[in-house]
Amino acid sequence: MNNKIYFTPGPSELYHTVPQHMQEAMAQKIGSISHRSKQFQEIFARAESGLRELLQLPDEYEVFFVASATEIWERAIQNNVRQESFHLVNGSFSKRFYETAKELGREAQVHEAPFGQGFDVESINVPETAELVALIQNETSSGACMPVEDINRFRERVPADALIYVDAVSSLPYPAFDYAKVDSVYFSVQKCFGLPAGLGVWLVNDRCMAKARELQESGLSIGSYHTLPALLEKALQSQTVETPNVLNIYLLGKVLEDMNRKGVETIRQETEAKAAQIYTFLEQSNVFSPAVQQPQHRSKTTIVANTTIPASEVNKHLAKYDLQVGSGYGKYKETQIRIANFPAHSPEQVEQLLEKLGEVER
Ligand SMILES: *Cc1c(COP(=O)(O)O)cnc(C)c1O
Repeated sequence: MNNKIYFTPGPSELYHTVPQHMQEAMAQKIGSISHRSKQFQEIFARAESGLRELLQLPDEYEVFFVASATEIWERAIQNNVRQESFHLVNGSFSKRFYETAKELGREAQVHEAPFGQGFDVESINVPETAELVALIQNETSSGACMPVEDINRFRERVPADALIYVDAVSSLPYPAFDYAKVDSVYFSVQKCFGLPAGLGVWLVNDRCMAKARELQESGLSIGSYHTLPALLEKALQSQTVETPNVLNIYLLGKVLEDMNRKGVETIRQETEAKAAQIYTFLEQSNVFSPAVQQPQHRSKTTIVANTTIPASEVNKHLAKYDLQVGSGYGKYKETQIRIANFPAHSPEQVEQLLEKLGEVER
């Protein structure tokens, strides 16, 4: 039996209703049903409509299920970039998208901010030739976020036909996006949706669809099985191209029902209240301090702290109480900790974590 509460930034703690939905999935033999059956179409439709409701997604957006956010980086470049993309980079995940574009032979341009910092939108010049502009709402490696008001300022700052992509992998459903001001938003379910890994969700509007068709009609390869037109053709019948992660799509639909019952506003308020508690603790601690200096760039969902005691020692102490936080990312492995503040983490669990972190003294 494992009673640990995972505050790791993904995979993380599962949403509290997942075990019961998993049992029901086994009772219904969800793992054995055909992905061409009516039963699967209902599972797909339930997940899609649950997501549309929770995110208040406009009708011009499509919802596609793929393998991961990492896959979406590759598909986005293949389907939406003929020559040139432009990337805001301030950590490992945003950098990986940029590298993917170069690996696929595109001319990728970059505007870089130091690790742990947000972006000053006024100072960013988007090239006239950029076809895709990659923004990162929440950089999980460093804990820096981009406020939605800043994201909304890009439409006027990018070429008229450029597509604005937003990585919200470790923050949705927290940010209340204005979906008319962006073109694609994507996430994977093992972060804020509290599910096992292995499912990426790609939201694209009609402009992304049109660009993919334009590239395809001009004779360019836009990939094979997961092209946007192929994804749409199947999604219109509540199906997927390949045999998908049926179990996870089922679980997502169920968790979305639970989240919609709770209400996205309540989820957002709870997220903010817990984040405020965590940051207050960090600011008062003599071991930990917020890693991101500017308060408006501090993530509410993946909170990163500098630590004067090695992260492995912190986790050794927490393990006595069945608690675990994330270590720092990459070269910050021991000098930082990362605390996930997802909808799966209850206010009581956060309080318990802060109490035990408070016992870690120099
Ligand atoms: C986790 C993460 C990804 C990658 O997600 P996968 O599901 O592992 O492909 C991308 N971007 C951010 C910000 C992430 O936190």
